[in-house]
Amino acid sequence: MADIKKEAPEMECDHCGTTSELAPMLTYAHQGEEKHVCTRCLPMLIHG
Ligand SMILES: [Zn+2]
Repeated sequence: MADIKKEAPEMECDHCGTTSELAPMLTYAHQGEEKHVCTRCLPMLIHG
């Protein structure tokens, strides 16, 4: 039985917890770990 359902990887912002369903999500690496951040939290990340 073929499973034709697409499995979209659900990403979650590490900062506010929003998902890629609700906001564009970016992936980055920090200290060797893969992290996710939404575009709303990105400025916060940049400014430290
Ligand atoms: Zn966020």
